Amino acid sequence: MEELKNRIRKEGKVIDEEILKVDHFLNHQIDPILMCKIGEQFARIFKETEVTKVITLESSGIAPALMTGFIMKLPVIFARKKKPVTANEDMLSTEVYSFTKKVTNTISLEKSLLSPEDRVLVIDDFLANGAASLGLTKLIKTAGAKVAGIGIVIEKSFQEGRRRLEEAGYSVCSLARIASLKENHVSFLDE
Ligand code: 5GP
Repeated sequence: MEELKNRIRKEGKVIDEEILKVDHFLNHQIDPILMCKIGEQFARIFKETEVTKVITLESSGIAPALMTGFIMKLPVIFARKKKPVTANEDMLSTEVYSFTKKVTNTISLEKSLLSPEDRVLVIDDFLANGAASLGLTKLIKTAGAKVAGIGIVIEKSFQEGRRRLEEAGYSVCSLARIASLKENHVSFLDE
């Protein structure tokens, strides 16, 4: 998605060779117009997959997932990183190692939100080593539902995420694929 790549070129900050900061349009301040276009793009890509629900992980996945659900007219679930006080035994949970925060979170969602009839589209802001997306697919499968596909806003293709997700049998679609991060320079796979 050319507009997304241009925003990354202009506003992305390369923190080191593994981390990109996009706090001006995705991870802190959010550009709703860009998010809407991202939602339209995911809706186009996944229109044949008979999705019934969209799922993401709080908090940075919520904006692109919400816009995708809005365009596709589908409910959007966000898995939580902290157990709410209202949690009961009807929660599904799994452990996910956070690439940016270097901690393991137990992510969870209420069992009743998914049923075996659901085909669920996973949306996330970044793909690094795939832990967040794989954690979400595990929750979907534990609920007896099916994974319809995985949509990623920014994939760092030099990391292991895509390979791990494809090996697990999922189709991954990313709107921007980064080949490398060098001091103040982002290279994309298709340039
Ligand atoms: P993974 O679970 O694939 O290793 O990492 C994906 C998760 O870590 C995403 O949900 C995202 O929040 C965070 N993440 C991974 N790499 C980056 C990055 O370069 N920049 C930002 N802002 N977040 C990242």
